[in-house]
Amino acid sequence: MTADAERKMQFLYALRSRGVTDHAVLTAMEKVDRADFIRHYFTDRAYDDMPLPIACGQTISQPSVVGLMTQALQVSNRDKVLEIGTGSGYQAAVLSQLARRVYTCDRHRRLVIEAREIFEAQGLANITAFVADGSHGLPDQAPFDRILVTAAAEDPPGPLLAQLKIGGIMVVPVGQSDTVQSLIRVTRTEDGFDYDELRSVRFVPLVEGLGRDA
Ligand code: SAH
Repeated sequence: MTADAERKMQFLYALRSRGVTDHAVLTAMEKVDRADFIRHYFTDRAYDDMPLPIACGQTISQPSVVGLMTQALQVSNRDKVLEIGTGSGYQAAVLSQLARRVYTCDRHRRLVIEAREIFEAQGLANITAFVADGSHGLPDQAPFDRILVTAAAEDPPGPLLAQLKIGGIMVVPVGQSDTVQSLIRVTRTEDGFDYDELRSVRFVPLVEGLGRDA
C-alpha cells in the first residue's frame, strides 16, 4: 500500500473509532480530500484528527466532529441544506455528497472566495457559497430541510429556527465562546421544537455582522 493510501485508511479508521459509523457519511468523507481545503501550511496534517488553522484566524474543524455533525444531521439526497460558517469549505463539500443542494455562508469574503474556487475546481456544482451574516439565515432560500451551524452560538439563533421546515433538523454548538460548548440537535415538529444534547465540542464563536474584509 502507498503511504498516501495508508494515511487515508487510518483517517477512516480514526473516524469509525470516534463514532462515525454511518456508511454514507464515511463514503462522503472518503471521497472529499481534506488536504485540498488546507492551503499552504499544515497540509501534512490533513488526515490527522485535529482542527487546523485556516485564513482569517478561523479553523477547519476536526474530521471526527465533521463526521459526527453530518451523521447527526441525517441528510438525504432530497434535502436542501444550509451551513453557517463556510470556513475552508470542507464541511460543505462533505454535505454536497449527501444532499440535493447546499447553501453555505461565511462573514469573511476571503474564505467564501477561496472555498468557491475549490468547489468549482472539483465540480461540486450543487454548492452555493454566500458572504453573509449567517445568524440571520438566508431568508431568500428558506425554508431548509437541514441546517448546520459550525460556529458556537449562545442559543440556537431564532431566524434559523424559523427557516427550518417542519420535520427539519438543525445541528448547532451552543454555549459561551472560549469554553466547551454542547452540540445540540433541534428537530422542528408540528407543535414546536425538540432538543437533544449530543456531546461537548469546541468551536469558534458565531460573530454578528460581516468580517472587515467583506
Ligand atoms: N465549516 C468550516 C469550519 C468553520 S469555522 C469548515 O469546514 O472548514 C467557523 C466559521 O464560521 C468561520 O469561518 C467564521 O468566519 C464563520 N462565522 C462566524 N460567525 C459567523 C456569522 N455570523 N455568519 C457567517 N459565518 C460566521
